[in-house]
Amino acid sequence: MPETRYVFVTGGVASSLGKGIISASLAKLLQARGYSVTIQKLDPYLNVDPGTLNPYEHGECYVTEDGAETDLDLGHYERFLNVPTSQANNVTTGRIYQNVINKERKGDYLGKTVQIIPHITDEIKRNIKLLGTKHKYDFVITEIGGTVGDIESLPYIEAVRQLKWELGHRAAVIHLTLVPFLNASGELKTKPTQHSVKQLLEIGVQPDVLVLRTEHHLDQDIRKKVALFCNVDSKAVIQSIDVKTIYEVPVKMQEEGLDEIILKKLELPVEEKPALKDWKGFLNKLNKANKIVKIGLVGKYVELADAYKSIIEALIHASTYNDRKAKIELIHSETLNPDTVADKLKGLDAILVAPGFGHRGIEGKLEAVKYARENNVPFLGICLGMQCAVIEYARNVMQLPDANSREMNHKTVNAVIDLMEDQKNVTDKGGTMRLGAYECKLKEGSNSFSAYNSELVHERHRHRYEFNNDFLETYEKAGMKAAGCNPETGLVEIMEIPKHKWFVGVQFHPEYSSTVLKPHPIFLAFIKAAISE
Ligand code: GLN
Repeated sequence: MPETRYVFVTGGVASSLGKGIISASLAKLLQARGYSVTIQKLDPYLNVDPGTLNPYEHGECYVTEDGAETDLDLGHYERFLNVPTSQANNVTTGRIYQNVINKERKGDYLGKTVQIIPHITDEIKRNIKLLGTKHKYDFVITEIGGTVGDIESLPYIEAVRQLKWELGHRAAVIHLTLVPFLNASGELKTKPTQHSVKQLLEIGVQPDVLVLRTEHHLDQDIRKKVALFCNVDSKAVIQSIDVKTIYEVPVKMQEEGLDEIILKKLELPVEEKPALKDWKGFLNKLNKANKIVKIGLVGKYVELADAYKSIIEALIHASTYNDRKAKIELIHSETLNPDTVADKLKGLDAILVAPGFGHRGIEGKLEAVKYARENNVPFLGICLGMQCAVIEYARNVMQLPDANSREMNHKTVNAVIDLMEDQKNVTDKGGTMRLGAYECKLKEGSNSFSAYNSELVHERHRHRYEFNNDFLETYEKAGMKAAGCNPETGLVEIMEIPKHKWFVGVQFHPEYSSTVLKPHPIFLAFIKAAISE
């Protein structure tokens, strides 16, 4: 396809309607038609990236292969498309302003007054078009974070208005809204949608497609009414009805003809509907699995499942491919102590100790590790979870009761987890961790080696502390072994207890690269161990 097409996805009426899932679903349908597609998220907040945001504020921080700390929607994009994203796929207002201000300081604006229009909007447009021009995708789908009407998202909508004008038939706008159902009168209400489209029109943007989130089927009359009030074709008013799993959304969107409407609008040929064979195969397995695998996910942000989005999805993928239904119990690490742990963790088929930062909840995580180790329950520790496994082993098996991570006690003598050498002089918090994909060489005979069935793997990282190699020999003698190391630096990436049924701690984040069609080998092996007798 000679020229990139641009699709913008905006949202109205309420936040959290699932613009990310609609974007990912459309992308999936276009990809299934043979197009190369990427999705980009524009976030209207002033943080340069979400890396410094508390998970309570913004859910999980997702990490790309090139080491960008990004919005969790990029996780959905990768899980749906099976194509890696990069820094260019997530841009925040903070980054836009930072770029513009840096250019101003360099004198690039030649004495001009620097303004929101055109300088900020030009920088937004440059970031949108970059994916098309530099990376040459057929489609760039750009999701605008926030809700239409927010002051913060105005420059983005203005950029969309300008791009629509410049690109003509190569641009389309999808607006996602909510049609609430009023129980008292038994009616579906379209007024909020009409108002939200009016708000978009006030800023000069006419949507081409309206996707209406709803709990009940929307009949033709309702669709016609919305079409009439909002200047869109009634065929371009489509419903997105609540479904059991997000992975059903592409199928629903195909039934509603979302991809066909977009192709027509962008003056591209509409050929036969793709069969989505593999995708439907996964869905089938997901819906059919009725035997349960019970996994305890121990963390300190459990009030908000979004904080562990990628882990939860990776567990669902792996369970599905093992013909099991994942029952994930979120267990607050602060509720675990020697008196409660057995009661809280009994009956679980597997235990996963989550990543995290700081000392809050750490003692509970150590209790969970101890329980899994002593009771031979399959265990996966991710990042801080792996570090906890290392600390627990030193304290309870190697007779080093004061062993700790320097993150938790910086005066600790037995720092079995220590600050990485190149982190020692780092003072800024944003974007300064060990981030992105690094190589890991696996040891033959380990659980990890048999899971990956390969010697060299690449996995994504996000941490400042590392296993302290001064202790490696003592660990190995005591029965906990390094199963994977970085071939260049020797940093330990994986620790295992070979005598245990399946006990694996990984310094990296396998959850970021588990996708629907390519479940992650470590998660597959973890669930396999959980269900084996
Ligand atoms: N806090 C730990 C570190 O920085 C672990 C980080 C994580 O779990 N992502 O090394």
